[in-house]
Parts: sequence; structure tokens; C-alpha cells
Amino acid sequence: QPHTIGFIGLGIMGLPMATNLVKAGYTVRGLDRSPDKTARFVENGGTAVHSCAEAAEGADTVITMLPDSPDVEAVLLGDDGVFAAAAPGTLVADMSTIRPDTARAVAAAGAERGLRVLDAPVSGGEAGAVEGALSIMVGGAAEDAAAAAPVFGPLGTPVHVGPSGAGQTVKAANQLIVAGNIQLVAEALVFLEAHGVDTGAALRVLNGGLAGSAVLTRKGEAMRTRSFEPGFRIELHHKDMGIVTAAAREAGVPIPVGALVAQFVAALNAQGHGGLDHSALLKLVERLAGD
Ligand code: NAD
Repeated sequence: QPHTIGFIGLGIMGLPMATNLVKAGYTVRGLDRSPDKTARFVENGGTAVHSCAEAAEGADTVITMLPDSPDVEAVLLGDDGVFAAAAPGTLVADMSTIRPDTARAVAAAGAERGLRVLDAPVSGGEAGAVEGALSIMVGGAAEDAAAAAPVFGPLGTPVHVGPSGAGQTVKAANQLIVAGNIQLVAEALVFLEAHGVDTGAALRVLNGGLAGSAVLTRKGEAMRTRSFEPGFRIELHHKDMGIVTAAAREAGVPIPVGALVAQFVAALNAQGHGGLDHSALLKLVERLAGD
């Protein structure tokens, strides 16, 4: 059955995601505030629209892939936003990484208008977006998650993890694990180099044991060769460490190592490296080691 998707936010993640939906046969109406990104989507077979309302009008599903909580609030709740233009019953899936409490508030506002709102943040990075192999953490009503599953299919694997906000809570945990993992891989690499070890061979053997991880597999070589093109920008991980720190505090749960790594991410961001990939945590470890 023909199905139209409005897709707002065609950045590093959104462009390949929206393109995979086009390839899967959906009619996808894309919008980014940066016109060259919308133009790239049109080159990939998508249709350009010029306002959030236009993206939502007549759409069966609207997906947002925006930087931060205020961006999602503006696009969904604004006077000329998605909620004002979408027909009752429309599925709205925010796939950005935002605050769980914002996700809950947005879902409640949508429900008042008869919209079916899901939080559906993702993990897997730019490569996962390009390959349609994202891990999708879905929060919201079970029947809405089931209804959205076919649309998520070309993007990756959705798992319904609980009510509104639960997807973002799981994503916050994801970001905690990833930041800590990168930090320790960075420390291990600087340590190995100081001992004059061949880090290429070291990464290969480490990856075969219990130290192996997706971070080691996907970021290890780039870290070894100091290639910090994003990928996932430090400024976005800084945002996410703020989200997990606040959510942990709200729950009364200490995250001491996470809080420390959050400070390292904050330092790198403050030093003007917000545009580098998060694997650039290695730069900070090098400086601490006196390099
Ligand atoms: P990005 O900055 O590359 O893309 C965001 C896009 O949204 C930009 O192109 C920007 O122009 C657009 N935008 C912002 N406000 C807008 C508005 N009001 N209307 C229309 N367009 C608007 O960021 P990204 O790396 O694609 O990340 C997007 C989200 O996904 C973030 O929440 C991020 O934390 C999350 N995420 C990123 C990765 C990754 O590896 N890059 C992985 C998982 C999750």
C-alpha cells in the first residue's frame, strides 16, 4: 500500500536513512534547513519540501532526525510545525537523541491531537545509517511500535523497549557505554604506543578476546591513525553526556566513571574540538600523557 513519509533533518544520519526509505519504495518528502542537504536528497531520488507543515501534510509517517531537544520541540510543536499539520492517526517517530523527559512531553502533546508519537533513537553511526543496519530503540505504545516496524525495517532493527521516553533512556545508556569504551580504547592505545608495541597487531588480537567491541572494530583503526573526521561529533556526544548525567541524577543513581568521561568530553568540546569525531577523546589522553 502506498505510504508517504515526511523526513525532517537530512544530516550525517538523516540523509542516508531517508535515502534507504526511498530505495525501499516509499515516497519520501525531505526537509533540512540547509538547502544543500535537501538538494543532495533530491539527487538520491527524494522529494524536497520547504516547511515542516508541508512535510507533514498528507504523510502517513513523519520522521525527525535533528540535533537536540529544542530542535525537536521547534519542529514538532511550533506554530507551523508537524503536529499542527499532521492528520490524526499519523505516526510521528523522533529518531534524534534527545532528553527522555522532552520525549515524554512531546508524545503527550501529540496524543492530545490524536497523533501516535514514538521516540526511536538509533545506534550504529553513519555506517549503520548507510547500510540500513541501525539498532532502533523504540519507546511508546506497543501497537504504535508495531505499526511503525515496517517503516523502520529499511533503517535497521527496531526493538520496543517500553512506554514514551524509554527509547531515549536506553539511548542514554548506550551513549554512556560508548563514551566509556572509547575513553578506555584511547588510554590503551596511548599506553601501547608508549611501550613501542605495533598497535595494528595489538588491535587485531584484542578484538578477538573479551576486550573486543563495536568501538574497537569500527573506531580502532581510525584512532590508531589519528583520523578524526566525523562520524559522530564531540559536540553531540557532549549533549548526550548531559542527558545521561541529568537522567541518572533524576533516578538517584551515581555514574562515577560516566561523570568523569563526561568531563573529558566537555573539555575536548571547550578546546574547540566539538566538530571532531568522538574518537578524538584520544587527543585528550595524549595531552594528559605529556605528548
Ligand atoms: P547533523 O547535525 O549532521 O544533522 C542534523 C540535521 O538537522 C542538520 O542537517 C541540520 O541542518 C538539520 N536541522 C536542524 N534543525 C532543523 C530544523 N529546525 N529544520 C530542518 N532541519 C534542521 O547530526 P547527525 O549526526 O545526523 O545526528 C542527528 C541526531 O542523531 C542527533 O540527535 C545525534 O545525537 C543522533 N545520532 C547521531 C549519530 C551519528 O553517528 N552521527 C548516531 C546515532 C544518533
